[in-house]
Amino acid sequence: MYIRDIFSSKKPVISFEVFPPKKDSSIDTIYSTIDALADLHPDFISVTYGAGGSASGKTVELASIIKNKYNIEALAHLTCVTSTKSEIEAILDKLTANNITNILSLRGDFPTEGDYKFPSSVQYEHADDLIRHIKSTGDFSIGAACYPEGHIECKDKSLDLFHLKNKVQVGSDFLITQLFFNNEDFYIFMDQIKSIGINVPVSAGIMPVINKKQIERITALCGASVPNKFKRILDKYENNPEALKEAGIAYATEQIIDLLSWGIDGIHIYTMNKPEIARKIVNNIASIRNVLEKEPPAAAVQ
Ligand code: FAD
Repeated sequence: MYIRDIFSSKKPVISFEVFPPKKDSSIDTIYSTIDALADLHPDFISVTYGAGGSASGKTVELASIIKNKYNIEALAHLTCVTSTKSEIEAILDKLTANNITNILSLRGDFPTEGDYKFPSSVQYEHADDLIRHIKSTGDFSIGAACYPEGHIECKDKSLDLFHLKNKVQVGSDFLITQLFFNNEDFYIFMDQIKSIGINVPVSAGIMPVINKKQIERITALCGASVPNKFKRILDKYENNPEALKEAGIAYATEQIIDLLSWGIDGIHIYTMNKPEIARKIVNNIASIRNVLEKEPPAAAVQ
């Protein structure tokens, strides 16, 4: 099924992100993670593409397992900045051969380590180049990344939004946000994109934080800001992993409840391959929604 059709048939769409095992680990190491996530009945599971194209073969392999063994819709991430057109075409062929119809089309980050040589003339400068290419070669539902606080490289927010609109105009059916910790940033972003005519569904990327060092590394890379109320939690519980885990789950749950009440199209949980965290959040939300969405007692309806 195309993910664009999932978004048009239900709301909210609940999805998870996983990453493939490292280059020298077997794909079998991920089965227990997918088993546990499958139990939660997500609408789709996305599979990341190693930075700089590393371990890229495993993205297709894992997406294929999710789709063909577990019968869960798979979204394969694909980055392009370090690839040639023929490499991308080979991956698109593999995806088609594996019955995978959904791609998150990304530029990717520039390699910073080692002495990376870019394809002789860089063939894709931005994600929109890749979206155009995918559109012209196959029948896929294409998603793209978006950044409620702006992309770290683009200092002009309105220019960044202009580039985002371009990605939608050339063929992106839906958007998934970078992680954010302050829902108000997301609501302002949604007003901004609506005002420039971006009307495709947007799924909010939520990362449950369970490790201070990890979140410092991620936010330094992507530029997402950490609000003071969350900084205090990180500082207080950094040496108490169990408490930080519970606080991180509670914070993510609170963010999601607020997003649901706002009317979000989708929630995309960055699981970091820790299904027990995703399970706690999904269960929290399910029990709260059960209470909130029950018919009010007759006496209350006056
Ligand atoms: P683009 O849309 O190309 O944007 C990059 C920058 O270029 C922005 O500053 C934008 O304003 C500017 N720009 C865009 N189009 C143009 C244009 N036509 N002309 C001039 N400037 C332009 N990385 C991975 O390596 N693997 C993954 O699996 C992965 N998954 C991700 C999933 C999500 C949901 C998100 C939000 C990010 C993910 N990333 C992943 C990170 C992503 O690769 C980086 O954020 C990267 O720096 C930008 O990718 P992009 O597709 O948003 O690029």
